[in-house]
Amino acid sequence: MSGSQSIFGTMLQEFDGAARILNLEPGIWRILTAPKRQIIVSCPVQMDSGDIKVFTGYRVQYNVSLGPAKGGIRYHPDVTLDEVTTLAAWMTWKCAVAHIPFGGGKGGVVCDPSRMSRRELEALTRRYVAEIIDAIGPEKDVPAPDVNTNEQTMAWVMDTYSMHVGHTSTAVVTGKPIELGGSLGRREATGRGVMLVTRESAHHLGFELSGARVAIQGFGNVGGVSAALLAEQGARIVAVADWKGGTYNAAGLDIPALLTYAQQHKTVAGFPRGDALSNAELFALEVDVLIPAALENQITMENAPTLKTRVLVEGANGPTTPEAHRYLHRQGVFVVPDILANCGGVTASYFEWVQDRHGYFWTEQEVNERLERKICTAFEEVLTTMKRYQVDMRTAAYLVAINRVAAVTRMRGMYA
Ligand code: NAD
Repeated sequence: MSGSQSIFGTMLQEFDGAARILNLEPGIWRILTAPKRQIIVSCPVQMDSGDIKVFTGYRVQYNVSLGPAKGGIRYHPDVTLDEVTTLAAWMTWKCAVAHIPFGGGKGGVVCDPSRMSRRELEALTRRYVAEIIDAIGPEKDVPAPDVNTNEQTMAWVMDTYSMHVGHTSTAVVTGKPIELGGSLGRREATGRGVMLVTRESAHHLGFELSGARVAIQGFGNVGGVSAALLAEQGARIVAVADWKGGTYNAAGLDIPALLTYAQQHKTVAGFPRGDALSNAELFALEVDVLIPAALENQITMENAPTLKTRVLVEGANGPTTPEAHRYLHRQGVFVVPDILANCGGVTASYFEWVQDRHGYFWTEQEVNERLERKICTAFEEVLTTMKRYQVDMRTAAYLVAINRVAAVTRMRGMYA
């Protein structure tokens, strides 16, 4: 079994556990575990050398019962159809937990963007969009940035789609530059959501965020913004680590200074106002909150027994293996699952889509206030479900999500 197949297996394990508790009918079970549509395309691109290369691209619409498919486009040499399908499934459950009217989608192109020029990336993006053009659109499937794609990539997606349909269509994609119909507050929204669920978790467990000890793996978009906003709330960010190493300061790291340092040095390692620390040491620190915000499969049965945290907030997608999660739950660690913890990003993407469709844009304060209402409501619903069914937060999040998607599937009935 390949690694990517096992990711779909992880998703199914999480899904099955919750579906069993719900006594889900076998027919609905079969529908919700089958991707609705998987598209594979070949994208020929003339490289700067004059050579023609053909790149494989995927777009998966896992489930669209609640609305248009929503999910990022990833550029990476290791992209596979199984991985994209799994990520599309997770987007389905994430949108349902966040209670936004989207289904789940994901896209990917097998390429190494670090070895491609800007012109080659633009040509690849435009060809990929042209190949999937009939499948996407504001009412059908709304892509967004993911690993190695950014606001510029989304501007190319929007322009290519607009050229094909003959008018400017900003709502076809989110994560765009502000000038092109992007939303204020979207860039920080995932980190803001992480801060909010951490605050709500502390409240639930009866401790104050102010003065709480926090360790964060990853200091990119999610980890960096989470650190800054948690520090603003008075939390002590005692450790941060990234791909190159980490930094530790028992009194709390100076996060604005660390953000400036990381921007200049492309890592937090070597920060002069902290002591060096490895990723393994970060995971073993005695803290109130641990936030993995880097990669998947970081917390396994190898390091889970070393963890000494009260709360684990999954900023990254899939950072904890199912076995490690079961172990930590048994140890009494309160785990806020990825589909709830990092749903701030897709919620703000939904706000961007709404603003584009209205042609009326909100202030940053309005975006942040609406985001806070959405995240706190989602957290509360999952917490209530956790208590009602006496399960962990991940199972509870799946119960909420599956219930929502299953309910509309029953209501809509079979089209045959
Ligand atoms: P990013 O590229 O901005 O930052 C990633 C960080 O992880 C960097 O600090 C990098 O140094 C660190 N990292 C990479 N490899 C590492 C390793 N081997 N060990 C330790 N650290 C390592 O990415 P991001 O946008 O912050 O996303 C982080 C995670 O959050 C991913 O799992 C992503 O799928 C998930 N996520 C992101 C968003 C979003 O809006 N950006 C939304 C939902 C989920």
